[in-house]
Amino acid sequence: MKQYQKLLLGFVLGVVLGLIGYYFLPEKSYPFMKLFTDFCTLAGAVFLRIIFMVVVPLLVSALMLGVFELGKGRGLGKVATKSLTYTLLLSFMAVIIAVSLTAILQPGVGVQFDKEALAKNQGVLNISKNVQAAKTKPWYQYFTDLIPQNPVDSAARAFGGEIIALMIFSLMFGYALSCYTQDEDNPFIKMLDTIFNASITIVGWAMKLAPFGIFGIVFNTTYRMGAGFLGNVAYFALVVVIGLLIQQFIVYAACIKFIARSNPWEFFKSCKEAYVYAFSTASSNATLPIALELAEKTLKLPPQISRFVLTCGASANQNGTALFEGVVVLFLAQVYGLNLSIESQFIVVLMSVLAGVGTAGVPGGSLPLIAILCVQVGIPVEGMGLILGVDRFLDMCRTTLNVSGDLVIAKLVSENVDQETLDNLKESA
Ligand code: ASP
Repeated sequence: MKQYQKLLLGFVLGVVLGLIGYYFLPEKSYPFMKLFTDFCTLAGAVFLRIIFMVVVPLLVSALMLGVFELGKGRGLGKVATKSLTYTLLLSFMAVIIAVSLTAILQPGVGVQFDKEALAKNQGVLNISKNVQAAKTKPWYQYFTDLIPQNPVDSAARAFGGEIIALMIFSLMFGYALSCYTQDEDNPFIKMLDTIFNASITIVGWAMKLAPFGIFGIVFNTTYRMGAGFLGNVAYFALVVVIGLLIQQFIVYAACIKFIARSNPWEFFKSCKEAYVYAFSTASSNATLPIALELAEKTLKLPPQISRFVLTCGASANQNGTALFEGVVVLFLAQVYGLNLSIESQFIVVLMSVLAGVGTAGVPGGSLPLIAILCVQVGIPVEGMGLILGVDRFLDMCRTTLNVSGDLVIAKLVSENVDQETLDNLKESA
């Protein structure tokens, strides 16, 4: 059986058995289910931790090496500019889809809910606390925070919101390396290459565990939520999913067909393993190692380009998240019967695009930014309690699009750098 088939099997079994468990074996009447879900948590956590464990060394080495190669071959400017342009354009498209769909389908009109209970929801209380902290930050600090004072400290807090600072350090350091030396045999470059390859080897071990890990995660999620978890926000969830599908099968497909001049279906089919990982883990960062391998081995993209684009993209290109944020804010505005002014709608579009760039690629990474966005346009933060119940499921869906977007951009950039740059990069590799 091929690896992706094993992953799919773990996934499907997780959903089916999880649903059977939810309806026929509730934990209250069948205490052994507690033990079973504990084992599933264990399998999922071990798998995820092995992957997360290598994210920092992998990210740092891949970015430094990627930028070193690009800088040395004098392709950095072109590749970085193209990546940034595609990122902003695709994010913008995603938010436009979000705004249009929410305006046309109106998922928030007529939603009934208990405002008081929502305000007391623990998830909402945590989010409100973070918003208070963010409110006291002066605007320029958002920029200064991007530059780490101490990269080791940023590495230690990479999953606590410091990953972008770590990336900035790695990018600058990689570029400085390319200015300092052109020598591939420099011991530091060799060391980075060794760290990169050893990290990928560990990922290979995690992949052996993946079918069990994915089963565990998916089983527990389904067992806890059942199929009725969507409740009265089912329509909202449907709007998000339709938006994600439009971005994937119309926008991305068109880009692959007309810009990269390749067959979109073939391309999507080659990426299926990364999609399964992204969906199951709900984390772009956890999927990064798989995406890197897939880009080099299956899609055969030039490693100098794919390492740079995918590693930056895992945190900085999140079209699914941008789309989700747009839908959530406008949905909540409809729920509260607020008519957003043109100015507020413009803020929603702009901030959603930027949030797609600034969200950490971890499960639920976008929630703090959505809260800030709500406050900006005058929507009560407690409204977010409405969507928390479906957030995990939608997180899985939007993360799949996030990862797909990174692979699409890697393909577009690879196909669109001029031959001279590619030759330079190949020669210097
Ligand atoms: N879970 C998403 C990711 O890792 C981020 C988010 O939208 O919450 O890409």
